[in-house]
Amino acid sequence: MTPTTSSDPAARRAELAANLAEVRERIAAACAAAGRDPGDVTLVAVTKTFPASDVRLLAGLGLAQVAENRDQEAAPKAAECADLDLTWHFVGQLQTNKAKSVASYAGVVQSVDRPRLVRALAQAAGAADRTVRCLVQVSLDEGEGRGGADPADVPSLADAIAAADGLELGGVMAVAPLGADPRPAFERLARVANEVRLSHPGATIMSAGMSGDLESAIACGATHVRVGTALLGGRSAIVR
Ligand SMILES: *Cc1c(COP(=O)(O)O)cnc(C)c1O
Repeated sequence: MTPTTSSDPAARRAELAANLAEVRERIAAACAAAGRDPGDVTLVAVTKTFPASDVRLLAGLGLAQVAENRDQEAAPKAAECADLDLTWHFVGQLQTNKAKSVASYAGVVQSVDRPRLVRALAQAAGAADRTVRCLVQVSLDEGEGRGGADPADVPSLADAIAAADGLELGGVMAVAPLGADPRPAFERLARVANEVRLSHPGATIMSAGMSGDLESAIACGATHVRVGTALLGGRSAIVR
């Protein structure tokens, strides 16, 4: 969690390698504690506010999944890294007018939270002749403005994604409420994830857990953790 960022590429590479080893150890320990196979938890590196050169270094260290939360930043970064074999995840609140751009590089959109966005993404994916995997973002904080659908609306959104050409339903995603014990929230998410899986057995993804709470998320069944700070260092600006 130390906000160090070296400008010398070799030093930066060593820094990222050490951070990555530490995060992998945390994931392994959390899996051991939960009786889970570490191979069942995918690490997604959240690279927002960090340069494409860091994405390149992470790719060299074996990471293949990267996430961004703003299209203005993600689109050029994905273009700069187009030669790398990466899957880009979009994890931020997404306006429908950005769907076309996001669908051109993102393999996964984790923040689908309303029917209009499903339609916009389906149209964009179709136009680009791509398949975009979508997760329903679930609100766990009763409208505190961090995005996400009300849990009651999740099944119909999941159905809409599954029925849309160009989209594939991957599962669910959530961000824990700020300043509260994340555990009950992740347990709630796990129940929503199970409900979705009953109708859509292929929707196996539960994306939950960040630098501060990945252990709780893994204990509750997360299949994907989204880690920024613990891998890359502190962000100077608040970008959430
Ligand atoms: C920034 C961000 C993360 C990573 O958060 P850290 O605390 O830096 O690990 C995860 N998920 C989303 C949706 C984010 O915006």
